[in-house]
Amino acid sequence: MSAHLSEWTLRRLHVGELPDAESQRAREHVAACAECHGVLAGLEANQARFEAEVPFERFASGVERVLKEGQAKSSKPRLNGLLVAVAATVLLAVAVRPLLSESPAGNRLKGGASAELRIGGKGDQRSVQPGDTEELLPGEQIRLGYVAGTHKYVLAVSVDEAGEVSSLYPESGPSLPVEAGAGKHWLPDSVEFTPGGYERVVVVLSEKPLEAEAVAAEARRAWEAAGRKVETMTSLGLDGEETHWLLRKP
Ligand SMILES: [Zn+2]
Repeated sequence: MSAHLSEWTLRRLHVGELPDAESQRAREHVAACAECHGVLAGLEANQARFEAEVPFERFASGVERVLKEGQAKSSKPRLNGLLVAVAATVLLAVAVRPLLSESPAGNRLKGGASAELRIGGKGDQRSVQPGDTEELLPGEQIRLGYVAGTHKYVLAVSVDEAGEVSSLYPESGPSLPVEAGAGKHWLPDSVEFTPGGYERVVVVLSEKPLEAEAVAAEARRAWEAAGRKVETMTSLGLDGEETHWLLRKP
């Protein structure tokens, strides 16, 4: 038996990133090696636990709900250029497959605060590291979570390639008060973006409530200041702690 596979190789095998020939060799090794088989099984179990944290509605049922409600009331949940899938009761079956970074929980802000962007609802769930760029697959949605720490308010906004700003949470008015409890809280519903180009998502935890309209204006200014390139935008300059992620939409 040759040397064991590195954990990196096993992770790539797990996520399906190995080239065919290498993947074939790795699978043969895993089939014959209890130790590597154990490591791979651990990665799969981690992914299952990770996905069980956040139930993503099935995309199809979410859309059905959206369309029906849209016909009935035409109020929510379409807002400029994006679609908010309302919570449905069908939970996505946990797929014991891809991807997990060792600490999926995202960034660390002061006072133990953090924010997390989770992609799911179609493919395998994954968390995006703040500051990273991640590809969305067709039909995938995001959910946003936070640990408030000492912050009292939370707000989320996104900016697309054309500089169009969407107020996600709340859609208008002041920031949402954080939920009680020290643990991680998930903002309600999942969000699906209209396809094409980049979308920057920003969560702002703050001491005082911010106004969605004012934040949208700041985001637009930041986009202008970045040469109208959403990819290169940095801080929105808000009075709070910002966490940014960049998504590449299908
Ligand atoms: Zn081995």
